[in-house]
Amino acid sequence: MLPQLTQLLILQDKDQAIKRLQGDLKRLPMEEERARQKLLSDTQAVQTAKQKLQDNEVAMKNVQLLIATRKETINRLKVQQFETRKNDEYTALGNEVIRYGNEITGLEDQEIELMEKAEELKSAVTATQQGLAASQKLVDAELAQISERLTNVKSQLAEFQTKRDTLASGVEDELLETYSRIWKHRGDAVVVALEGGICRGCNMKVAPAVLLGARNQKELTTCSNCGRLVFLE
Ligand SMILES: [Zn+2]
Repeated sequence: MLPQLTQLLILQDKDQAIKRLQGDLKRLPMEEERARQKLLSDTQAVQTAKQKLQDNEVAMKNVQLLIATRKETINRLKVQQFETRKNDEYTALGNEVIRYGNEITGLEDQEIELMEKAEELKSAVTATQQGLAASQKLVDAELAQISERLTNVKSQLAEFQTKRDTLASGVEDELLETYSRIWKHRGDAVVVALEGGICRGCNMKVAPAVLLGARNQKELTTCSNCGRLVFLE
């Protein structure tokens, strides 16, 4: 193989590695974001469960308030009953006392139901909190792993970039220019093999002259389709 091509193949190898690492550098923050998103639904489940418990407590306080006001009313009615001298008023007040008493019984039943429901809702809060804690543990581990990979990618990238620059400085200017132009245009490979007359860069059959040029190995030969530098395997 032409020595220039060997030189470029080594440079290309580094450029391809750098490109992969740059891709990782872009992808890893997205992976991080996805991991964080996983916690979102579990966090919302905890909030929803807490809200239901809170709503239930408010309902319980309301019932307790209604019971208290009715008890006060009954006390007031009993005082009025004690003070009255009229028989019919005494009876009417007595009926009122009974009516409020019945209401209290109904409200106390409601209070018991709400208290039982509160126990269920407290268990639900605990369950969702445990679920969130488990997810948090998994996500934390995932985030730590991603962060470690990110650190590795960055240091590798710096290392490869230095090596790449050293390699590039050893390539003759005009050749490096040709290489850079093709790399910029194609973005994946500059020097590719010809296999059975087919360019491995574009996977198309090359013109006979290209095949001949590659076989002679006298000068750089480019693929007639994609313009990449070709060599015979
Ligand atoms: Zn080609």
